[in-house]
Amino acid sequence: MIPKHSSCLEPADFLTWVRTPNGGDVDVVAETREVWESALDRRRVYPTPTGRHAFWYFLEAMDLTEGDEILVPAYNFYVMVRLAVQRGLRPVFVDIDPATLSIDVDDLAAKITPRSAAVLVTHMFGIPADLPRIVELCTNHDLLLFEDCAHAVGTTVDGVQVGQAGDGALFSFGVEKLVNSFGGGLLALADEHADRFDLPDHDPGAVASFADTTSRAAVSALNRPRLYGLALYPARRAGDRLLPRLKAVVNPAKDNPEYRFDPDTRAPAKAYMPAMHRRQLERLADNITRRRGHIADMKARLRDVVGVDLLHEDRHGRANGAYFGVYVDDHEAVTTELARHGVEANPHEFYDCSALEQFAEFASHNPAASRASHHLLRLPSYPSLSSSATEHIAAVILRYLREPVAS
Ligand SMILES: *Cc1c(COP(=O)(O)O)cnc(C)c1O
Repeated sequence: MIPKHSSCLEPADFLTWVRTPNGGDVDVVAETREVWESALDRRRVYPTPTGRHAFWYFLEAMDLTEGDEILVPAYNFYVMVRLAVQRGLRPVFVDIDPATLSIDVDDLAAKITPRSAAVLVTHMFGIPADLPRIVELCTNHDLLLFEDCAHAVGTTVDGVQVGQAGDGALFSFGVEKLVNSFGGGLLALADEHADRFDLPDHDPGAVASFADTTSRAAVSALNRPRLYGLALYPARRAGDRLLPRLKAVVNPAKDNPEYRFDPDTRAPAKAYMPAMHRRQLERLADNITRRRGHIADMKARLRDVVGVDLLHEDRHGRANGAYFGVYVDDHEAVTTELARHGVEANPHEFYDCSALEQFAEFASHNPAASRASHHLLRLPSYPSLSSSATEHIAAVILRYLREPVAS
């Protein structure tokens, strides 16, 4: 079984949590700063309970008025859009560049209005957005710029870690992210905002906090190629029979219209997290080199194949290989075929939020986001993937495209 993601954590990474699951005498803010100092040397960083908390705190701290417009990439994690709406902002959906999956700068320029107050840029799949042009636009129109770097630890533009170009940025350390600490996130603020910012305090209480982190640690432990087929994959499929909490972790809903952000429901940033980040940051360059190698290998096998379109991951900088996406005609059918051959792929990593029922009030037509929603397929690229595995993945796709079988 080849999972779409493997946490690639080492036993010693788990030990940082096992030793001090909730406490310890660590100043989490100071420790987080020290660990992230060299990666984010141009920003002031704050540990947060999750990545979305960082965006929430940012929106809370800025001088925004109800009804202000925030320009957001249409192909997105719906939760980010929901947070903006919950804060009273009007999302204006901008199409994406199909080759990089991030905001289309021409469409962004065309959709700026006198009510525009902020721009959200997502380095989707760890592929850098066109930051120099975006920064210029935001500067010229006096717009706040927030970068969603949930996928983008180690992604660079001109050699600089993304997340330091605008006013603020989020990073996420959830179970499927490149750096995983069973939850946790980070807010990176420009100095001018940091001088007036106080980090809010949120904690759901000891029991809920322990359960939150422990369920994520369990999923991370199972999310390894050998255990995955035995435990987590069947669990994913068992769906409704699982405990709701585990189900939410294993199978996060991709479009839940009922979802409302509540800052008090997740465990706070904990003392063990910076140490766990430090260990993974030491391996980051190697992790990224391996991922990029796997992607280059699969792309070489799929290049010029009729029925497959590839992305341009490095168009605006250097991608980290966090996710590997390809366009195919029927992404559901290819996913089914891959599953028959022991490969897990995801045809619904994210959605065209401009077409979601829950944001109907703000609907618009964004063809490239729609195409990504309907044709993009996420394939595995985790570092411990073998070269025979990448060969196998490409071969299954090639065989299917040559002779589609009714499965
Ligand atoms: C994971 C993710 C986030 C934030 O994640 P949290 O679960 O809040 O830590 C934000 N944007 C994108 C695109 C993501 O994938």
